[in-house]
Amino acid sequence: MKPSSRFRRVCVFCGSSPGNKPSYQIAAIQLAKQLVERKIDLVYGGGSIGLMGLVSQAVFDGGRHVLGVIPKTLMPREITGETVGEVRPVSSMHQRKAEMARQSDAFIALPGGYGTLEELLEVITWAQLGIHDKPVGLLNVDGYYNSLLSFIDKAVDEGFIAPSARHIIISAPTALELMCKLEECMPENYDAASKLTWEMEH
Ligand code: AMP
Repeated sequence: MKPSSRFRRVCVFCGSSPGNKPSYQIAAIQLAKQLVERKIDLVYGGGSIGLMGLVSQAVFDGGRHVLGVIPKTLMPREITGETVGEVRPVSSMHQRKAEMARQSDAFIALPGGYGTLEELLEVITWAQLGIHDKPVGLLNVDGYYNSLLSFIDKAVDEGFIAPSARHIIISAPTALELMCKLEECMPENYDAASKLTWEMEH
C-alpha cells in the first residue's frame, strides 16, 4: 500500500474529445488510477465528454472527491454531458481557471486541444510570474507533446523563454512516472492552503 501523497487535490486539464488513439483514453484512466491510489481528489473543468469524462468518472468510481468547475454558459447537459461529483458553477471561463488553480496543489495536462493548451500555458505563465508555486506536469502520451516541447526549447534558444522557466514543465510518458516526478519536486515548505498571490491582502 502506497503512503498518501503530499497532494490533496490535483487539477487535470485534458481534451473534451477522446482523441483518435486508444492510448490517450488508456492514459486518462491510468492517471485517474494513480490519483485514487495516492488518495488524491480531482479538480477539473466539469462535464462528461472526451478525456475529461473518462478521468472524472474513474476518479469518482475509485471513491475520491471530484470537483467540476464549470461556467454557467457551459452547463446545459447537451454541451458537456452529466458531471459526476460536486459541481461548482462559475460566471466565466476566467473565473473557472482561477477557481481550478485555487483549489489544487498541482496541475497535470493530458493530451487535448486548444482549451487544454490554453489552460496549460496559463498556469505555466502564472508560475513564471510567481503567482503560484504549484508543480505543472505534462503527460506526454505517445509523444503527443513532443512538438510543443521542441517549440519551447526553440523559444529558450531564441531568447524568449528564460532557461530557468523551461523547467516549470515536468513531463513524463506515463502517469506513474509523472506522479513520482511531481511528488519529488514539491517544495519542502509547500503550503497546500496557500493562496494565489493576486489574492493576498496587501
Ligand atoms: P479542448 O482541449 O479544446 O478539448 O478543451 C478542453 C479544456 O477546455 C478542458 O480542460 C475544459 O476546461 C475546457 N473545455 C473545452 N470545451 C469544453 C466543453 N464543451 N465542456 C467543458 N469544458 C470544456
